[in-house]
Amino acid sequence: MNLVPTRIELARPLPPLTYLAPEGLPPGVRVRVRLRNGAAVGLVLGRDGAPPKVQLRPIESVVDPFPLLPQKLRELLAFAADYYAVGLAQLLPLCLPPVLVPNWEVETKHGLRLSDLRDQGRWDDLAALGEAWHRGEEGLRGLLHRRDRRGAGLTEICRTELPNPAKVTATQAKALLALEEAGGRMLEADLRDLTGTSAAVLATLEAKGLIQRTRRLDLLSQRREEGIDHRVALNAEQLAASAAVADRGFGVHLLYGVTGSGKTEVYLEVAERVLAAGRRVLWLVPEIGLTPRLLARLEARFPGQVAVGHAGLSATEKQADVVRLLQNGAPIFVGVRNAVLAPLRDIGLIIVDEEQEGSYKSEEHPRIHARDLAIKRAQLEDCPIILGSATPSLESWHAASAARYKLLKLTQRPLGIQLPEVQVADLRDAHREQRKRVVFSKALLAGMAEVLARGEQAMLLLNRRGFENFWMCRACGKTLDCPHCAVSLTYHKGSYRLRCHMCGFEAVPPEVCPHCAAAHLRGVGEGTEQIEDQVAALFPKARILRLDRDTTTRKGSLEAGLLAAEQGHVDILVGTQMLAKGHNFPKLTLVGILNADQGLRMPDFRAGERTFQLLTQVAGRAGRAEHAGRVVLQTYSPDHPAIAFALRQDFEGFAAQELTYRETLAYPPFTALALYRSEGDSPEAAQQALAAQKARLAAVPGLHLLGPLEAPVPKVRDRYRMHLLVKARQRGGISSALHAAPLAPGGAVVVDRDPLHFG
Ligand SMILES: [Zn+2]
Ligand SMILES: [Zn+2]
Repeated sequence: MNLVPTRIELARPLPPLTYLAPEGLPPGVRVRVRLRNGAAVGLVLGRDGAPPKVQLRPIESVVDPFPLLPQKLRELLAFAADYYAVGLAQLLPLCLPPVLVPNWEVETKHGLRLSDLRDQGRWDDLAALGEAWHRGEEGLRGLLHRRDRRGAGLTEICRTELPNPAKVTATQAKALLALEEAGGRMLEADLRDLTGTSAAVLATLEAKGLIQRTRRLDLLSQRREEGIDHRVALNAEQLAASAAVADRGFGVHLLYGVTGSGKTEVYLEVAERVLAAGRRVLWLVPEIGLTPRLLARLEARFPGQVAVGHAGLSATEKQADVVRLLQNGAPIFVGVRNAVLAPLRDIGLIIVDEEQEGSYKSEEHPRIHARDLAIKRAQLEDCPIILGSATPSLESWHAASAARYKLLKLTQRPLGIQLPEVQVADLRDAHREQRKRVVFSKALLAGMAEVLARGEQAMLLLNRRGFENFWMCRACGKTLDCPHCAVSLTYHKGSYRLRCHMCGFEAVPPEVCPHCAAAHLRGVGEGTEQIEDQVAALFPKARILRLDRDTTTRKGSLEAGLLAAEQGHVDILVGTQMLAKGHNFPKLTLVGILNADQGLRMPDFRAGERTFQLLTQVAGRAGRAEHAGRVVLQTYSPDHPAIAFALRQDFEGFAAQELTYRETLAYPPFTALALYRSEGDSPEAAQQALAAQKARLAAVPGLHLLGPLEAPVPKVRDRYRMHLLVKARQRGGISSALHAAPLAPGGAVVVDRDPLHFG
């Protein structure tokens, strides 16, 4: 076999390397190579035409007989790699689990074995086979090692916690060990494939209480029994919106519908049409844990056709889903951010629900934006895409106003549901009256008393965890800060610890001030933990539940808490903004926003937009069912536009004003941004790295460079952080910048294109 120099990229911060590989190996297949410190899987980019400068090593083996990802998805990956300036190989794990290794011993329909074709160097024939496989014309049964056992494919095995482990046999121990290594849960089919365990052994383990078997879809749709398949007759607006989405051809639709107006019915209607035409649906949601109701509805309406992907899945589960998609097993794929790269083919519709949500943007490398890539994917697949929201992002709204997106409006709430009454409690007045800081305004206290008397529910929101915000010394005025980060420590009363919310550092609160040794430390500002205490003191008989990141660390605890609240076992819910999203509490009639101004103080041009979105979402929570709702919004700045427009639930008014402001200050959507971030052992090191990058960017015309400046949190985990913001009139300007001054992989500087957060 003829070996030629071939460029191979690894999923590591390294430039592509050159190895000797079989001639004719197509780009897009994975190969195994040897590095100095072990083996790695890399991606073939193509032949290296340059004369080799050093003695080249051969690759160890070829992993894939042909590119496993569909052609359109490979085009999307190439686009994303270029757009976000990341290596293709670093995007690959987002859509293809590294553990997925094809079986070369399978035979084609003409009786040819893939390994024989490989040994004869017939890579062109293998590539043609791959194309036939992608088109569904060549089965290659068993290629992806998926032996489906009836029922086992969707059953999940879960380890249980037993105080005194029962005696087990060697066979049983093997299964338990494998389960342990997989993190305590895996699909039954995978466990049996991996260990050769029989169904009888698993049944014995279950009888001993050592494992638990659950149908995975039941986990996600515990409420199916509620009879959610009742089809709702669409109203005139919903029918018009669904009809406006063409069955074929690329087009972006912005479905703007007030809370409760039934966007999901429109999605379902269009999805049904697309499925009937034999094409597939990619459905993106911001957070899977918060959408069991949607999944249950999908499963009821399209039984057995839904696959689900989210961050909580184990590696084997992800693999099972990917195999299912690659084998065309699931025509609907629902997932969070990375699902935009799911190996689905023949897509006929893409839905991005709550398109304004920040969770679609990755805050880790590679920093992709799933909504933006979804639009590109729809363009490549030549299919419609629906972006849905009650408070669209200003980017999408602006594009719709400029007629680049088709705007579909839903303005009616179902009969009997009205907008809640929103009442402002001006904290400045309350402060003046009571001569002290006020946590609960009179209006809110009266509202809570009424709600409790009527047996309804109240929800109190404060976007700050812990008991007190920070500790300060009254003698010297200094705060207790994290030794590793430039932030104050937060007091958590339950665990009696001062904790850093950036790095997780914890300390027992000191008796005296570490700066001046005075015994005058006191807590300042209240967090959700303290609100819970204060509410309990005010309403001793009320059943109170706090839901924030501290109380929901255990898997499933958030879902359990939400379910308890939905079923009416809670009188007062206290929590952070995670409570604001997508739930439906039938008895909830009062929402108290304790400090509406909190988000406005962030040093971020989107602070107003985020506050408006949050307030509107929260207000939409109150009174969705038969009870009339009320919102008490406590604020020190009732005249701020984000608050004033939210009070009137006037998105269009807010958007018009905010867009004027963005245009004046040259912020997106009127400009494009890239944020270069650097980290160093000292502020100087971080600064120098960015200054060098700035000098390289100075030659690119049409850029506006701001910085290097200290990041808003200048130190995290003992690393100093600096920012350099690049503005351009058009997206093309940013592309020129990224190409003209590419960053060294693994260097001190990283770039975040279209940044959403500036922390
Ligand atoms: Zn002090
Ligand atoms: Zn810290």
